[in-house]
This record gives sequence, C-alpha cells and structure tokens, in this order.
Amino acid sequence: MSDRIQLLSPRLANQIAAGEVVERPASVIKELLENSLDAGATRLEVEIDNGGIKRIKVRDNGGGIDKDDLPLALARHATSKIHALEDLEAVATLGFRGEALASISSVARLTLTSSRDDSGQGWQVAVSGRDMQAALAPAAHPRGTTVDVRDLFFNTPARRKFLRTEKTEFNRVDETIKRLALSRFDVSISLRHNGKGVHNLRAGLGRVEMERRVAQVCGPAFMQNALHIDVERSGLRLWGWVAEPAFSRSQADLQFFYVNGRAIRDKVVSHAVRRAFADVLYHGRHPAFVLYLELDPAAVDVNVHPTKHEVRFRDSRLVHDFLFGSLHRALADVRPGQREEREQ
Ligand code: ADP
Ligand code: MG
Repeated sequence: MSDRIQLLSPRLANQIAAGEVVERPASVIKELLENSLDAGATRLEVEIDNGGIKRIKVRDNGGGIDKDDLPLALARHATSKIHALEDLEAVATLGFRGEALASISSVARLTLTSSRDDSGQGWQVAVSGRDMQAALAPAAHPRGTTVDVRDLFFNTPARRKFLRTEKTEFNRVDETIKRLALSRFDVSISLRHNGKGVHNLRAGLGRVEMERRVAQVCGPAFMQNALHIDVERSGLRLWGWVAEPAFSRSQADLQFFYVNGRAIRDKVVSHAVRRAFADVLYHGRHPAFVLYLELDPAAVDVNVHPTKHEVRFRDSRLVHDFLFGSLHRALADVRPGQREEREQ
C-alpha cells in the first residue's frame, strides 16, 4: 500500500457515505419517500420485488425535477433544500444533506425519471455499474418522479452479505411504510410486493378516515381497544391512540411515536411510556400506541443523526413528566381500581 495521499474517487466517496444511509431496502425506501414528500407529493406508490433486494420502485406526483437538474440530483452534496448555514436552523424538509440519491446510485442500478408539468413528457437519467456518468434521455412521465432501484449492493458483495432473507427485508419495508403512513394521513400510500397489493391507504384528515388508516396499519383489534387521547399543557400537546392494557403485545411491534411529525426513537420518551404502563401491564408484555407529540420546533433538535430517528429535547424533564402524566391519567381512567375510587 502506498502512503501517498490521494483524493477518493467520487464513486468510492459515495460508496463510503452509502454505508451510513443505505443499509437495506427499507432505508432506500425511507430516503426515496422522504424525497417525494419534500417535493410536495400527495400520492406515493411503492413497488418492490424480492423484499426490495431485486427491485424498488417509488413513484410520486410531486413537483418533479428540472431536466437540467437531473444529473445533479445524483451528485453528492447536491441539494435544492438548503443554500446557507442559516437554513439549517429552520430546515423544514426531511432531507437536506444531498446524499441519498448519490449513495443509492453508487451501490445499485438507478434510474430517475421526472416531469415538472402535465405534458406527459419528462426526462430520465440512469446510472449503473462502474461509471457515474449519467446520460439524459427523454421519457414519458406524468408530473412527478419515479425512482427505480435494481440489484441493491450488486457491486458491494460485502454489504450484500448483510442483507437478511427476502421475508425479513420485506418486513422492514412494511414497517417503514406503516411508520410513514401514520405520519402523513394527508398522503395516499400504496405498497405492492412481487406484483401483489399489500397496502392501499387513501388520504384523509377526518377523525373517521384517520382511525380507518390506524386500523389498517395496526389491525382492527388495536383500534377496537384504543383510547383516543388529546392533552395539551405548557406548550406541549400529546394526541393519538393508546391500546387499553388488555390489548398488550408480546413484542414491541405496535409502537409508533412521532415528534413534530417525525418518527423517532428516544430514551426519554421510552422511559416515560414504560413508567406510565408499568403498573397496568404484566411483566414481559408491551404496550401498543400511536402517539404524536407536538412542541415548539425550537425546543427540539432533530439534526442529531443522518437517519434522523433521534432527537434531543431542550427540556427533557418537562417532556418526560408531561408524557408520563398524560398517559398515566388516560390509563387510570380504565384501571378498574381507580374507576371505583372515582365513582365513590
Ligand atoms: P436531499 O434530499 O438531502 O436534498 P437527495 O440526494 O435525497 O438529497 O436528493 C437530491 C435532490 O434531488 C433533492 O434536493 C431534490 O432537489 C431532488 N429530488 C430527489 N428526489 C426527488 C423527488 N422525488 N421529487 C423531486 N425532487 C427530488
Ligand atoms: Mg433526500
């Protein structure tokens, strides 16, 4: 090995970056769907083959990408979402690092097709294999964007080895779709696997429509046993659905928690929820919930990790106590002992 310093080739730099954002089909889909949402799409169609390992296709009806920007969309650190450091303070989009498409296209065969208008005409770029040079060609496409990703990790066998069975990868994709579906009731979402329909979720923001979607995603039994909560205090709001303790799970598989619309996993949140359920659930049972915490965006930092599952609350004590208090009270209302007390 030479000890002389060399610049990484763009392709190698992208493949290294891909290690962070592109772990498996589900992470590809998450990035693509976030791009679609950032583009203002109201309809998301996802088709996958073989758990997404062989093929992932995401089509949206968003604003599309300009012909001249298509090759740039695949370049690293190319983004339309921030222009200056100040923008980071108030970033309203899900993406902003300009890494997803560059990363994905460095480890798969990617075709990007897009149109900005209703002419039915669009443009397409494809990158595959060794060369990162994207060739532009005209293509028929309605307003919006389609990203087609084939043969994930075909050129990085070491990464490919870490993929699990098609069934497992499909389950991760399904989880990703469900998590997203519960964060955007205003967007219709469909998923097809190996040519068969899995989800077809219609958009709607009314209580009835939202509860229909929750039932589709979490199962009708969840909804039948769910308590609707909506609590507001000290600038914090918690709303959503919590299953009565009778509907507990052997796995933590029905736990959806959103902070200002983003799905997150957080120690402060988990602890507060666990404590609230501690005396109503048997040991080893897990609660089921779909909950939304809303607070001043300035009171929470979402830019902790590239995959953005993590947040940092400015006042985590306040958040913890609010969550615990709100859930504990909601559950107290169905706890038989306490109901008797109240009725006396
Ligand atoms: P980021 O989302 O961080 O900006 P990406 O690599 O995910 O980076 O996307 C690069 C750019 O490509 C985006 O900033 C956006 O301008 C454009 N883009 C990607 N996907 C879409 C889409 N589905 N619709 C419209 N524009 C898109
Ligand atoms: Mg993105």
